[in-house]
Amino acid sequence: MFRFTTIKDYHTALQAGSMSCIQAVNYYLDQIARNENLNAFLEVFTEDAKQRAIALDELRARNKSTGESLGKLHGVIVGIKDVLCYQGHKVSAASKILENYTAVYSASAIEKLLAEGAIIIGRQNCDEFAMGSSNENSAYGPVKNGIDPTRVPGGSSGGSAVAVQSDMCMVSLGSDTGGSVRQPADFCGVIGLKPSYGRISRYGLIAYASSFDQIGIFSKSVSDAALVLGVIAGPDEFDSTVSSKAVPSYSNELKKATPKKVAYFKETLSHPGLDQEIKNQTTAYLAQLKGAGYTVEAIDFPLLNYLVPTYYVLTTAEASSNLSRFDGIKFGHRTSQPMADLTDLYKLSRTEGFGAEVQRRILLGTFVLSAGYFDAYFTKAQQVRQQLVDLTNELFNKYDMLVCPTVPTTAFNLGAHHHTATEMFLADIYTVYANLVGIPAISLPLFKHSNGMPFGLQVMSASFNETGLLQFSEALLETKIA
Ligand code: GLN
Repeated sequence: MFRFTTIKDYHTALQAGSMSCIQAVNYYLDQIARNENLNAFLEVFTEDAKQRAIALDELRARNKSTGESLGKLHGVIVGIKDVLCYQGHKVSAASKILENYTAVYSASAIEKLLAEGAIIIGRQNCDEFAMGSSNENSAYGPVKNGIDPTRVPGGSSGGSAVAVQSDMCMVSLGSDTGGSVRQPADFCGVIGLKPSYGRISRYGLIAYASSFDQIGIFSKSVSDAALVLGVIAGPDEFDSTVSSKAVPSYSNELKKATPKKVAYFKETLSHPGLDQEIKNQTTAYLAQLKGAGYTVEAIDFPLLNYLVPTYYVLTTAEASSNLSRFDGIKFGHRTSQPMADLTDLYKLSRTEGFGAEVQRRILLGTFVLSAGYFDAYFTKAQQVRQQLVDLTNELFNKYDMLVCPTVPTTAFNLGAHHHTATEMFLADIYTVYANLVGIPAISLPLFKHSNGMPFGLQVMSASFNETGLLQFSEALLETKIA
């Protein structure tokens, strides 16, 4: 029976002939069917994936004589969040407003995956337009956590996290604007990596808040995350915000060094919303790190309570502008009601097409940008963001890594926070910082709560120090300090 461990082991099995790409695809199609109740996939690209697997098996058979390159992700089975465009395939941002929309081009990250031989098995459920922390905002029903289906998987990339957790693909691509890769990774017990802002092209990623959005990776091993990042990172002429910095060979660097200077913000561990057991286990783990020869120091961070408000002012402002294109004329669902007036047509189309949370954020974003309130909210939030950037630069002059819990609680029950938006927003308290300042961050599945659910340690590093971040992560997961 096929058992996926790492891409490297899978490639060894393919080379030894004990496994083929089509066998792997069939295995995952079975797994997807078996776990249908979790609602992780909105669509499975069954025929596509099979055809591609057969072509890749043929390529491997003839490559021994022709020497054709197999690609770094040869036969790797990837799921993609329903916000990434894949030419000729539907993409809806889990929204009714884009129901039945077919992508006319592929995201640059998708092109890069395909160029290295990956097989895309389907598009994964998420919160509508990536807005949410529980996956309950999808227009196509919630995703359920595979460990306990009465609980949420986290969001917004819930389907992508559950697909890796419950063995429905090898790795997934999600998007992370304020924690949407790390938070569901934490709730599901897998690795979730959000690279630095500008490390991966956003071309073909449906925008939520463009100065925060970044494509991220779900995997079961640090080495797989490193390999996929190495493929999809790097310059792209279609995204002017992507960095032209050379992409290091993350995979080869993994074991070369271990960054040792670790800081944590005192306030993250004394926050009243933090679950007591998460606090205790995290604190004990930090002591063990110290014992293992790491420097671990507490530093003051008086701005913790400003993070979530700053994040929501800025992201809703950007969202209100990004989502204005979906008006039933330029893009998206158009009402079938006869309308004499253009404004009424826009209004009704958007009312029918957008769900409640998206509407709430468009209204909030429009408000903070409005003439009378712009300075009080938007400008103020920009100033806080700049302060955070300055503080972060200073911090990483002294330390290699910054750690804290990924989320203050473990996965909660479906429906638990439905009527309290602010409570739900607090699930993002530890994750939004990395997006506000653009640094790379990862959630590592290190812990288990007595309620049976996993939870993670979040590690952050200086902008574009993915190499150090991955080396540190590998050391923590491999040496099993705890
Ligand atoms: N939960 C956060 C929000 O709702 C993060 C979303 C994300 O990262 N896409 O905005």
